Amino acid sequence: MAVPRKKVTRSKRDMRRSHLALKAQNVIECSNCGELKRPHHVCAACGHYDGREVLVAKPEIDTDDEAA
Ligand SMILES: [Zn+2]
Repeated sequence: MAVPRKKVTRSKRDMRRSHLALKAQNVIECSNCGELKRPHHVCAACGHYDGREVLVAKPEIDTDDEAA
């Protein structure tokens, strides 16, 4: 429910905001290519998960030639 700003003390406002900080994303090294990836997720760089390739990695898209 909306509460007028002057009715909320600095203490109450700051206590509410004590839980708002962002935490660092947990990352591990891919066992196949060594790239950093999220645990329990397919590696975005090589498409491997649990020691096998489950996604075919897309070839690098060349963005240099814009005239083509
Ligand atoms: Zn990988």
